[in-house]
Amino acid sequence: AKWVYFFGKDRTEGDGKNKNLLGGKGAGLAEMTSIGIPVPPGFTITTEACIEFYKNDKKYPEGLWDQAKAALATLEEAMGKKFGDIENPLLVSVRSGARVSMPGMMDTILNLGLTDETVKGLEKSSGNARFAYDSYRRFIQMFSDVVLGIPHHKFEHILSDMKKAKNVDEDTKLSPEDMKDLAAKYKDLVSRELGTPFPQDPMLQLEYAVNAVFDSWNNQRAKTYRKINKMSDDWGTAVNVQSMVFGNMGDDCGTGVAFTRDPSTGEKVFFGEYLVNAQGEDVVAGIRTPEPIARLEKDMPESFKQLEEVYQKLEKHYKDVQDIEFTIEKGVLYMLQTRTGKRTAKAAVKIAYDMFAEGLIDKKTAVLRVEPNQIDQLLHPMIDTSITYDILAKGLPASPGAAVGKAVFCAEDAEAAAVVGEAVILVRAETSPEDIGGMHAAKGILTATGGMTSHAAVVARGMGKCCVAGCGAIKIDEKAKKFSVGSKTINEGDIITINGSTGEVINGAAKLIEPELSGEFAEILNWADEFRTLGVRANADTPADARIARDFGSEGIGLCRTEHMFFDGDRIDAVREMILAENEDGRRRALKKIKPYQKEDFIGLFEAMDGLPVTVRLLDPPLHEFIPHTDEEVKRVADGSGLSVEQLKAKAVELHEFNPMLGHRGCRLGVTYPEVYEMQVYAIMEAACELKKAGKDVQPEIMIPLVGHVKELKELEEMTRAVASEVIAAAGVELEYLVGTMIELPRAALTADEVAECAEFFSFGTNDLTQTTLGLSRDDSGKFLPLYIEKGIYKEDPFVSIDESGVGQLVEMGVQKGRSTRPGLKTGICGEHGGDPASIFFCQKAGLNYVSCSPFRVPVARLAAAHAAL
Ligand code: ADP
Ligand code: MG
Ligand code: MG
Repeated sequence: AKWVYFFGKDRTEGDGKNKNLLGGKGAGLAEMTSIGIPVPPGFTITTEACIEFYKNDKKYPEGLWDQAKAALATLEEAMGKKFGDIENPLLVSVRSGARVSMPGMMDTILNLGLTDETVKGLEKSSGNARFAYDSYRRFIQMFSDVVLGIPHHKFEHILSDMKKAKNVDEDTKLSPEDMKDLAAKYKDLVSRELGTPFPQDPMLQLEYAVNAVFDSWNNQRAKTYRKINKMSDDWGTAVNVQSMVFGNMGDDCGTGVAFTRDPSTGEKVFFGEYLVNAQGEDVVAGIRTPEPIARLEKDMPESFKQLEEVYQKLEKHYKDVQDIEFTIEKGVLYMLQTRTGKRTAKAAVKIAYDMFAEGLIDKKTAVLRVEPNQIDQLLHPMIDTSITYDILAKGLPASPGAAVGKAVFCAEDAEAAAVVGEAVILVRAETSPEDIGGMHAAKGILTATGGMTSHAAVVARGMGKCCVAGCGAIKIDEKAKKFSVGSKTINEGDIITINGSTGEVINGAAKLIEPELSGEFAEILNWADEFRTLGVRANADTPADARIARDFGSEGIGLCRTEHMFFDGDRIDAVREMILAENEDGRRRALKKIKPYQKEDFIGLFEAMDGLPVTVRLLDPPLHEFIPHTDEEVKRVADGSGLSVEQLKAKAVELHEFNPMLGHRGCRLGVTYPEVYEMQVYAIMEAACELKKAGKDVQPEIMIPLVGHVKELKELEEMTRAVASEVIAAAGVELEYLVGTMIELPRAALTADEVAECAEFFSFGTNDLTQTTLGLSRDDSGKFLPLYIEKGIYKEDPFVSIDESGVGQLVEMGVQKGRSTRPGLKTGICGEHGGDPASIFFCQKAGLNYVSCSPFRVPVARLAAAHAAL
């Protein structure tokens, strides 16, 4: 089998599109090489080799090492240098690269091939002792950290002692002798720690390094990253062995990272940072504060021009924003990486819009470029800037949005807070890949050092999390868990707000306001509407919610829950009177008082949704939910209703249920107390007729919940139609309306052909349907379901993303059986799943007519429905 693919000016073996085999980095290097962009040559060991390595008890598959040696020989020829040569040694980097980028999660080693002997050759051939020993000490540190397990900070200690002793603030100011001294001290450290000297055989170094990259696929932080990002553990990583170019040879050298457009705002400006006389990770690691890329134009105009040409070529070639890494060696530019740039939702929208306008991509691609899951970010509250706040400091606006929470100072604390549902802001000097879990748990991230491309910034943008980076004014004391700005101190647990769009750090909780659809975002959603075939409705109970939903593009209301209308203000008293009534007469008397309120509510709702369908669900929850429970309340209600506290308590006992979710609720209420549903139908139909008379287009759809047997529905359907006809006749208008049901019990789905005889539409209430199909209580599963997800018993929380093989089957069956007796049956879904992109994909497959979700999820659903149709 072929395990190794060479890339170089004269011969590139790998297919630059095949990220699965070569990994993202390897594919990018091959692709760039083959379109004539300057890339140091090298070779890629495939992800398949890594998979085999794990299958074989961590042994190389047959032929791998021979192929690697052969590729190394080709590389030596291409470079005119020999690996391990003591005159003019070839040095390589050994870099990981999975099919999907995992920034900083796995290991990379630079300057490999240096030994006590070859470093002298490097000094001679370059004529630059400082450079040679700088490279050597970097190599010793990285190799020791990655391969030998000696942690970074032990080396950093030696380095900072050296800087102190020499009274310099940056390592670029250390002399050649200092560098030599550092390398020697590093080696001593290794000998002390290991009991054996630092490995001096370049071939062995290479083998160790390849093993270490393979091993890094399964280090803890990589595993955590994959879990958060739902990536498979089986993909494996490729290994790229690449000849080194050097950004650390002097002031005409440097290294940097850049994006072809601003990944935070999407603005079409070249965006990035670089460091003069530096190597590799220096920019990302936040050791020195990098310069903005615009400075490069002044510092090295020639190199900047090369870089500009290359980045434009890359963007045209890939037709998407690229995230690039480059090094300049003595004025000559080399590209070391290109990949699709991670971006915020805001940037994704702007970039997709602009690229379509520029003719780079078509409309379909533009719609597909914006991730439905991601745009949720744009629908989150923003800081109300009309108020003045106590602004503590200003950092870099690294990832937009706003976050309010308690300050915490380490990743573990952030994770612990998230478990108990507390909002926190993670405050760090700089984040590192170990912090990934804490960053995920926090509402926002604030760092004191590091630039716009620092780890914190990149990861936060990827997560869609608000981040302020490089806020130098805050002085963090991680041990004492506090930070100070001037004379002010923020302790652990104090509330702060960060504004990722301006970089401001605010003392206390800022006021947040609801977002609006921006012009470009609205336009992208309009394009999405051109492609989607699923309807999108909203779950809304009030005219205010209905208006929000409409503004967000909802095509109707898929679920109006009427119980909220029972709780409000004065009417709760009438509702309680009804519940406490001894007989039907008493109930009817109370219902008479409730009806005007209900009618008024429906008028508001129908008005807001003029011209669009509104599905109203008749009362669903068990009656005991409406009676008071606290002693204080019981007393108040008793006083008001003329009953004694004892009588009231007795009533509560009478209504008590062992299992209310499966108890006296939904249509069972309608069957036992028909007068309740009757009142609701009168209120709905009278409201509708009044508006109809006033010239409005009202489309009521009356929905009966929790049906299990067609006979339950039949009874209530007949009652509904009788009332509706009466009201319509009395009003003397023509009004179309529908009567349908919710499918939330397995029995209803199983007998959907019968149920459909009495129902003009089905709305799958997948919250309850999940609960009843899985036998899993929504209110109690929190105690054990997380473990189930962790163990992979259910891949996702079935209340968040529909359980396709179980609940999904019932939905599909319900649709098919229902349409077998009523071909024109309208079908939809309401419940949390209606706003979940994965579930929306399922709904498309199942042939539903629409999804219904909460108002703020409507844009997500519109976009997801378009993706599902494309
Ligand atoms: P990561 O996946 O963490 O970004 P990389 O493998 O991209 O790790 O390596 C990090 C950095 O090391 C690169 O951005 C580049 O600056 C430097 N680097 C890697 N290979 C080489 C090389 N052959 N020559 C010079 N610098 C290199
Ligand atoms: Mg990289
Ligand atoms: Mg329900």
